[in-house]
Amino acid sequence: TARASIDVNDVIEEARLLLADDLSRTGTMVRTELDRHVPQVSADRIQIQQVLVNLLRNAMEAVVANAAGSRMIVVRSMGRDGEVRVEICDNGSGIEEPDRIFEPLFTTKARGMGLGLAVSRSIIEAHGGTIAVEAATLRGTVFSFGLPIPASAA
Ligand code: ADP
Ligand code: MG
Repeated sequence: TARASIDVNDVIEEARLLLADDLSRTGTMVRTELDRHVPQVSADRIQIQQVLVNLLRNAMEAVVANAAGSRMIVVRSMGRDGEVRVEICDNGSGIEEPDRIFEPLFTTKARGMGLGLAVSRSIIEAHGGTIAVEAATLRGTVFSFGLPIPASAA
């Protein structure tokens, strides 16, 4: 894969643009709280973009499925503990089966492929990072992933 020095904030904005039509069609608001000083990470930009599109699309589908309330996604970036961390929070339907969601082909959607999270996890792990569901409550879900900051940038 083609690794380069990337600013994760730029990739977040690219992913948001790729989904702009679907987000506006569904009335989903995306707020970003980006740390403008996050260190660069060494990563395959297209793969990280794919992870962000997967997580944003899942968040959008969750807020659309949640009949109650506004459709709101918050994306945060931060540098801490030697990694750049990204959080995608939604006020959607919450996770029904948190133990299974990273399994390939696991889906709770009528037309789901069940591949987005499995692919996302393998991409993040191939970069030496981790991905997790941080919280899954009736009020929504927080996904997060971290990518290691190269020693030279720390
Ligand atoms: P798909 O989106 O095709 O179903 P994914 O691998 O992207 O496949 O997600 C697997 C399952 O994880 C989803 O079907 C859904 O049940 C759950 N899930 C993922 N993201 C969220 C979220 N933000 N809120 C609620 N459930 C989610
Ligand atoms: Mg998905």
